[in-house]
Amino acid sequence: MNRKQSEVLYEEALQHIVGGVNSPSRSFKAVGGGAPVFMKKAQGAYFWDVDGNRFVDYLAAYGPIITGHAHPHVTKAIAEAAANGTLYGTPTELEIQLAVMLKEAIPSMDKVRFVNSGTEAVMTTIRVARAYTGRNKIIKFAGCYHGHSDLVLVAAGSGPSTLGIPDSAGIPTSIAHEVITVPFNDPTGLQEALEKWGDDVAAVMIEPIVGNFGMVMPKPGFLEDVCRLARQYGALVIYDEVITAFRFHYGSAQTYAGLDNHDAIKPDLTALGKIIGGGLPIGAYGGSKEIMEKVAPLGPAYQAGTMAGNPASISAGIACLEVLQDSKVYEEMNRLTVKLTAGLADSAKRHGVPLTINQIRGSFSTHFCDHPVTNYDEAQDTDSEAFAAFFRAMLNRGVNLAPSKFEAWFLTTAHTEADIDFTLEAAEASFKEIAG
Ligand code: PLP
Repeated sequence: MNRKQSEVLYEEALQHIVGGVNSPSRSFKAVGGGAPVFMKKAQGAYFWDVDGNRFVDYLAAYGPIITGHAHPHVTKAIAEAAANGTLYGTPTELEIQLAVMLKEAIPSMDKVRFVNSGTEAVMTTIRVARAYTGRNKIIKFAGCYHGHSDLVLVAAGSGPSTLGIPDSAGIPTSIAHEVITVPFNDPTGLQEALEKWGDDVAAVMIEPIVGNFGMVMPKPGFLEDVCRLARQYGALVIYDEVITAFRFHYGSAQTYAGLDNHDAIKPDLTALGKIIGGGLPIGAYGGSKEIMEKVAPLGPAYQAGTMAGNPASISAGIACLEVLQDSKVYEEMNRLTVKLTAGLADSAKRHGVPLTINQIRGSFSTHFCDHPVTNYDEAQDTDSEAFAAFFRAMLNRGVNLAPSKFEAWFLTTAHTEADIDFTLEAAEASFKEIAG
């Protein structure tokens, strides 16, 4: 496959944009380096690059693009919003509409506030939890990624671990000392941390279903333990549902049928992003009325945003959720994903490539190893070189994956049976190639 033009643009980008990319996860550093592919157009399940190559896309922009690229309903909503002005700096009726849609789908949220990114949403939930509890420390789980704000970039997951920077430079140790990291799926680790620091823990922050060291389900009872232990020590529970909300069904992980006992796993605060903006920048957070009333202008916890709740993002979000309200779209994504993962597993086996696949509805992760992946250590203990070789082999055959062994594959409502067949053919040839 000729990608000459991408190479030329990458050289140029390096002159002007740090590392040539506007987010480190877009660089090919973790898959052997070189020029990332410069895409020119995206439609449905496909990308076309600057050299005219077509790719079936499973990146979905790291999650938000669940209705496929340039979905007509979403595109129309954005165009209409733009024609009426993109930013007002005043309240609008649209914001109420999206807030109500989110509350109906995620009943633990009595009150919502829109922000501009998942990072902001998470960062603010921590501030609100600190304001509410009067405590400082946060407990998080190894490998879970919660955006790039100081507190949660301590022993963080996908991007930083891929690049081998467990703690970013520029974060004061005094801040890092406010964060305790414990293993996912290990209630004993959490209990020990709470026994030691419980009096000063404001919140336990978790991806209730992990999307950042592959897709990883909590073990049965784990979320119940997290909520029970946090409450026993007077800490709030924050769910980071930036990836998981509206990914598996019309709702979030906390209401997903794959996890029982919804009352016992109900969080105090939830952070949202990605899908709820239909492909435009957005974040949101919400929780009980009592906790959310700590936020300005009602309460002492300050949070603001010039761009927050802008009509374009809100309209795209509403349109995206409208598409997802048809439950058939989730069934179809699941059906195609089951076919894809079964085919990938067969192909890998045929060529003697060890592969563990974690599938949750229309998303899954491929781990080049022969053991289960239930926590970050197990996700790290996989063959990075085999993943990099597979990634490149698939790219050369027109399949676009995230350039990191920790990232998920996401299906969209635009993927078809023919796309799955195409991908499985590419995978068969790719596994054969990497097996040698
Ligand atoms: N939380 C989770 C679970 C995420 O996966 C991400 C981004 O990948 C974030 C937070 C940060 O969101 P954003 O990139 O919109 O700032």
